[in-house]
Amino acid sequence: MKLTFLGTGAADWDINQFDNMPEFRRFSSALVNDDLLIDPGPHVFHFAEKNGTPDLLDGVKNIIVTHSHGDHFCPETVAKLCTGRDCTIWCAPECMKELNAALGNEAAFGINFRSTEIGKTYQIGDYRITPLRANHFATPGEIARVYLIERDGRILFYGCDSAWLPTETWNFMRDKPINTLVMELTCGEIATYDWRIFEHNTPEMLQIMLTMFKKYNRFAPDVKYYVSHMARTLHGDHASVVRLLEPMGVTPAYDGLQIEI
Ligand SMILES: [Zn+2]
Ligand SMILES: [Zn+2]
Repeated sequence: MKLTFLGTGAADWDINQFDNMPEFRRFSSALVNDDLLIDPGPHVFHFAEKNGTPDLLDGVKNIIVTHSHGDHFCPETVAKLCTGRDCTIWCAPECMKELNAALGNEAAFGINFRSTEIGKTYQIGDYRITPLRANHFATPGEIARVYLIERDGRILFYGCDSAWLPTETWNFMRDKPINTLVMELTCGEIATYDWRIFEHNTPEMLQIMLTMFKKYNRFAPDVKYYVSHMARTLHGDHASVVRLLEPMGVTPAYDGLQIEI
């Protein structure tokens, strides 16, 4: 599986500042191969344009959604990718309300929509995908999700947004030979004891989780760790994030980073 990071920032990045900031991060989103989109945020077409690949998302057949916060879920993006196209969106049932409210019932009705349940595995295109509970609040009633995505015996964990991992999620993933984990790291070095710790990770929390994963030899022998969803106001520049995470064996993603899983 190929994973392309279309955005690696938290919700405090302003797309209007794109030209003024050389290390700009769009809102977090990622493309698996060329047909599975994780989070239809508002910046994905901006990435495609600026990357010189305007047709990058033309092959998207399925979209999975972590949660309906505006930096991850944009009804206009969903409409553009799904209306009149062979593209299905898989998400919490509450996301349909957001689509109805933003697009109107009739337009939303034309979108192939499949609501998913936590802990159930779905065959989505060539992928086996399991939504798992995230520790993150979106809208009342909605359960935010992290995902396990499997294809050809390779497994990706994508976990933006979630502070720590809820026990039921850990119990599901603990014995899986995961090859790549993309964790979230909203809070950074310049945000010690930040109030967001109850819904987002800090470097200290990441360190504790990583140490435990390694202590118990979790996941596949070739497992690799990445982080995404970095807040503009809580991190230094990319080089400082690289330095911070190097001792943990974690690579911070940046917009446009492509990895093979
Ligand atoms: Zn977010
Ligand atoms: Zn969020």
